[in-house]
Amino acid sequence: MSANAQRGVVLSFVVPLYNEQESLASFYRQLHAVAQKLAEPYEIIFVNDGSTDSSGEILRDLHSQDEHVRYLSLSRNFGKHEAMAAGYDVTTGQAVITLDADGQHPPEFVDQLIAKWREGFDVVYTVRTNADAATGWKRATGRLFYSAFKHISGMDLTDCGDFLLLDRKVVEALRAVHEKSRFTRGLIQWLGFNQARLPYQALPRAGGKSGYSFGKLMATAGAALCNFSTLPLRAVAGLGVAMTCLAIVYALFALVLWLFVGGSWLGNIVALLVGLTGLNIAALGVVGEYVGRTFEEARNRPLYVIRDAVGFDMDSEEIKRTVPVRRVTASASKIRFFT
Ligand code: UDP
Ligand code: MG
Repeated sequence: MSANAQRGVVLSFVVPLYNEQESLASFYRQLHAVAQKLAEPYEIIFVNDGSTDSSGEILRDLHSQDEHVRYLSLSRNFGKHEAMAAGYDVTTGQAVITLDADGQHPPEFVDQLIAKWREGFDVVYTVRTNADAATGWKRATGRLFYSAFKHISGMDLTDCGDFLLLDRKVVEALRAVHEKSRFTRGLIQWLGFNQARLPYQALPRAGGKSGYSFGKLMATAGAALCNFSTLPLRAVAGLGVAMTCLAIVYALFALVLWLFVGGSWLGNIVALLVGLTGLNIAALGVVGEYVGRTFEEARNRPLYVIRDAVGFDMDSEEIKRTVPVRRVTASASKIRFFT
């Protein structure tokens, strides 16, 4: 049995972070104050997702002040969902709660998640009631994404974030899913179990700026839409058939027009050809998206690579199951992986 398990950790907090030097310390203080009041053994696991600012130094200081704090440093920026997967792999708590490090997920709300868990729910997920506070393109693309996801996958995840609690058995089930380009919320819905939904007010960022660039958001949306349904493939196939039928009808119409009215129909044919070529390329693009994902799965690279694991017991099962570990040196409270 690992040292953590022997200590009987009940609650594990998992916090993925990327360049959060402005909000990290204040977020920790809030979470620490809340965790102390819970009167349960707990651990706070930060996952540094390849930050290039001083987040790493802040984590080192937090660990030296508070033995509840442990952290993993990934070898580069892998993405929030991969960082969460790394965090889940090393948790030992009976319940695991994920929060963002920018203060948008209020730690004060954690006791309500725990209360639901104690009622017997295995998954407690939160829904932002003030999603309309988002501005500009994030709000517009968010609405579009959730509605597309609902139609394609049949799952309604509108305004659900990654601020959620999972029972140990759900964490173990999730750990068995090795899917690349992950969309964690969708995977959790897919897993099932006994799920409760809690509305909450998201807060503004405590500082710094969002680590989610337009490209990262699009990648997450792509993962969500393609990993949970093959409907886009069927939709383009259907569209192709519809277009072909339309083209036949149009050709007949143009022929009749040419025979009885006269004039040239070349311009219309060019328009038709351009339209059909566009459709072909779009259809290839959708097929390519799925082929690319199949290739990614076939390559079977690890979801993340750990550079440092600080504050963990190196003999523990949790650490042994992280990837990939080739050579390990250890000091009393710090182990280092060379990959
Ligand atoms: N994050 C991460 N890796 C990334 C991008 C973000 O670990 O590549 C973390 C980030 O530090 C924060 C959480 O994921 O703790 C949510 O990200 P962010 O606040 O940037 O997203 P937003 O709230 O703008 O959607
Ligand atoms: Mg945020």
